[in-house]
Amino acid sequence: MQKRIALFGSTGSIGQQALEVVKSYPELFTIEVLTAHSNADLLIEQSKTFRPNMVVIVDDKHYQKVNEALSGLNIKVFSGEKALTEVAAMDHYDIMLAAIVGYAGLASTWAAIQQGKTIALANKETLVVAGDLVSEAVIANKARIIPVDSEHSALFQCLVGENPDHIEKITLTASGGPFLGKKPNFLINVKKDHALQHPNWTMGAKITIDSASLMNKGLEMIEAKWLFGLKNEQIEVIVHPQSIVHSFVHFHDGSVKAQMGLPDMKLPIQYALAFPERLPNNHKRYEIKNFPSLTFEVADTKTFRNLALAKEAMFRGGNAPCVLNAANEIVVEAFLKNKIGFLEMSDIIEKCLETIPFLEHPSMDDYVACDAETRKLALTLYK
Ligand code: NAD
Ligand code: MG
Repeated sequence: MQKRIALFGSTGSIGQQALEVVKSYPELFTIEVLTAHSNADLLIEQSKTFRPNMVVIVDDKHYQKVNEALSGLNIKVFSGEKALTEVAAMDHYDIMLAAIVGYAGLASTWAAIQQGKTIALANKETLVVAGDLVSEAVIANKARIIPVDSEHSALFQCLVGENPDHIEKITLTASGGPFLGKKPNFLINVKKDHALQHPNWTMGAKITIDSASLMNKGLEMIEAKWLFGLKNEQIEVIVHPQSIVHSFVHFHDGSVKAQMGLPDMKLPIQYALAFPERLPNNHKRYEIKNFPSLTFEVADTKTFRNLALAKEAMFRGGNAPCVLNAANEIVVEAFLKNKIGFLEMSDIIEKCLETIPFLEHPSMDDYVACDAETRKLALTLYK
């Protein structure tokens, strides 16, 4: 039977690559839902090709255009933020691919979890902001999360057939981004065009900046904690500039497993959608002889302070990762608009972590309030 996919964030980097995967296996997958924030033209084009049952264009300025373009195709068109959670709660799909970027992806993913859905999760921010509540809700509702993030897909693949109690620790690999080896005297002057040039991956703007600042790896530490039920002490990071080893699991008998391959998000996307199957494809292959040396080095957290701040927030727990994430979303946006410098991003995040009152066991409403409060504060810190 075909798996019916609800693709949230279909116009993004992950969303578009997911549609390429779906196109390659028409007998296995069908698209039920597509959603976009404001790229109406691409949403219309995707809808004409994949013929979903429903689409959501979040920005209602574009509703009329999408509705008119799709009239006669038997596709229901909705708009507004609320439509995202309403569609996510419907029972006419089998698997959600959560590929909205940032905190904006939390509400729809949360709604799918309440319905006991299987979720292929690209939107790591959901677990960063509310990982404790999300993990509890997954168990309570018999939902399931299969990671799409390449490092976490690697860990997940290494853990198939293993007892999670036998994990000693995990090592997340980081490419190091475009500024690997650079020092603050260089970073103080970098502009967005340079930061957006990632050496190994082509991704959306926000995660590309997060990769350049190493915040992405900090968010991924927190993501791994909740996905695999790890203690903070069991999670480490190593810089691996070739991006061939996607992460390591160390077991309690001293055995270490890694998952490897060329950097291509289509693999973790297809693995998550097809799980527990492993599907054949003709993507470019990793040839060992073409990579005679794979290298590993300790991350420079004195220069890339975002990684240290994220680690600190992870150890603090409570609402600290929510504050970290909200502040980061604001400063990345500001950096992308050339309003603040690269290093100022860490200053503002640190100030937010110091200022916003700590809550040890936040409710979902507390997280929503904390996100809003942090955004407001972060804005005042640079305006
Ligand atoms: P992107 O910016 O390319 O796409 C984001 C998608 O989210 C778009 O479809 C956009 O319409 C939608 N969106 C944006 N703001 C929204 C809002 N307020 N409400 C509703 N929808 C909104 O991002 P991406 O690079 O595809 O990343 C998506 C997620 O996947 C992120 O959480 C990212 O961390 C994660 N991820 C991405 C990659 C990658 O290679 N791109 C790898 C690993 C993890
Ligand atoms: Mg990743």
